[in-house]
Amino acid sequence: MTTVAFIGLGNMGGPMAANLAKAGFEVRAFDLSDQALDIAKQQGCQVAGSALEAASGADVVISMLPAGKHVRGLYVDGEAALFDGMEKGALAIDCSTIDADTAREVAAAGEQKGIGFVDAPVSGGVGGAKAGTLTFIVGGSEAQFAQAKPVLEAMGKNIFHAGDHGAGQVAKVCNNMLLSILMAGTCEAINMGVKNGLDPAVLSEIMKQSSGGNWALNVYNPYPGVMENAPASNGYQGGFMVDLMFKDLGLAMDVSQLSGSPVPMGSAARSLFSLHRAKGNGSKDFSSLMEFYKDEA
Ligand code: NAD
Repeated sequence: MTTVAFIGLGNMGGPMAANLAKAGFEVRAFDLSDQALDIAKQQGCQVAGSALEAASGADVVISMLPAGKHVRGLYVDGEAALFDGMEKGALAIDCSTIDADTAREVAAAGEQKGIGFVDAPVSGGVGGAKAGTLTFIVGGSEAQFAQAKPVLEAMGKNIFHAGDHGAGQVAKVCNNMLLSILMAGTCEAINMGVKNGLDPAVLSEIMKQSSGGNWALNVYNPYPGVMENAPASNGYQGGFMVDLMFKDLGLAMDVSQLSGSPVPMGSAARSLFSLHRAKGNGSKDFSSLMEFYKDEA
């Protein structure tokens, strides 16, 4: 049986680890939060006392952490760096969204110790994590992709090989920049319709079936009460935090700057999320941008 260490059991990592356990993998889970560990235990994971304890002897280590500094600290330069404790030939799969340079540097540090590392950021949100239908966007060698695929298939539906180390992260920030633009546009259009007397559910259905249809309208409607399972109908709790979208848009701006790619729409979306965050909304789901429009109206 493949043993998987899973580090980072938050909104995404928790349900991903649960799906691995359900698929029959031996999952050793670790998070800094005791509450997250309790939930993982209830869902069939073994609970480890530290990340290093979870990773020792594991075939695969999966990390799902907030940002690049956490990933580097976990594998390379933290107090108990996992690359010093993992088996040679084991594979680390980092599913966090981080900057491509950090992903490449951590991969190079692993290679020096005989340990593989791929960047494998995900798309599909908490709903996709729970349903096991995530999209994985992998950066690494062909051989590492082949080693990662059977594990990722237990948590996702579409597994893409984007290219070499870091390519998964570049593709991911392109996607999230587009998502931020779509979400901002969707909030803007719904707000205008509601201010002109339309029912938000009726307007959403019209746009969904028309040329304005997009992912936010299909599965993540930002207006409270329109979609029962969306974060908007749950006080904008759970889901994908504004802080994390703000981080991803910063990563997108870095990629744009370094490659000289013009991103006027992405820059505008970043400004909107930045203002929304500055008003104290960092820990809410990113569809709460709807409130920004309502407040401004
Ligand atoms: P989250 O804040 O809910 O979870 C992060 C978890 O990591 C927390 O439980 C925290 O306690 C834990 N953690 C932090 N440092 C740790 C350490 N050193 N050791 C062990 N555990 C540690 O975040 P999330 O929403 O699950 O997102 C995780 C990553 O996935 C981010 O990079 C995010 O950008 C990306 N992502 C999120 C979504 C989404 O919809 N939430 C979608 C796609 C990608």
